Amino acid sequence: MLTPPQVVTQLSLIRQLRFCAGHRLYRHESKCAFFHGHNYRVDVEVVAAAGSNEVDAVGRIVDFSLIKQRLLGWLDAHWDHAFLIFQDDTNALESICRVVPTKYFVMPWNPTAENMARYLLEVVAPGVLTDLGVMARQVAVWETEESCAVATRVGDPVSPPVLLGSAVIVDNR
Ligand SMILES: [Zn+2]
Repeated sequence: MLTPPQVVTQLSLIRQLRFCAGHRLYRHESKCAFFHGHNYRVDVEVVAAAGSNEVDAVGRIVDFSLIKQRLLGWLDAHWDHAFLIFQDDTNALESICRVVPTKYFVMPWNPTAENMARYLLEVVAPGVLTDLGVMARQVAVWETEESCAVATRVGDPVSPPVLLGSAVIVDNR
């Protein structure tokens, strides 16, 4: 009897998350320099932190509902219906502070889809997923139905880490 070939398997799961946000691209040479917004879609791929095919007693890497709860919860609190502004974009920051009520989030990088994917992968996911025993392997941020940017983990975290930010919400209603 033939011995079947050994298969090396990597298990992961992907959860879609959706939110709306405004932004502008600092120093963009065309229309993306104007304040505008998108209906964003995020695809996050999650793997077990302990190993490539680690599953629980039920056979799950983690329950999908926990990924939604943690990551969509964070997105709802910080990016949904907020303006994402690069910290060096002082003109946009001064403007958004004058609007009442207001919700904005200061980014360490220009809020392109690439940098948003990177921020979710490197900063947000470790902050909200680590205690579940999983980590994000890849994050895709869809800015339109045709265009997405992808951030993929290819090594260990760099230090010092970027600190997880918070939305600024001013609402006296
Ligand atoms: Zn845009």
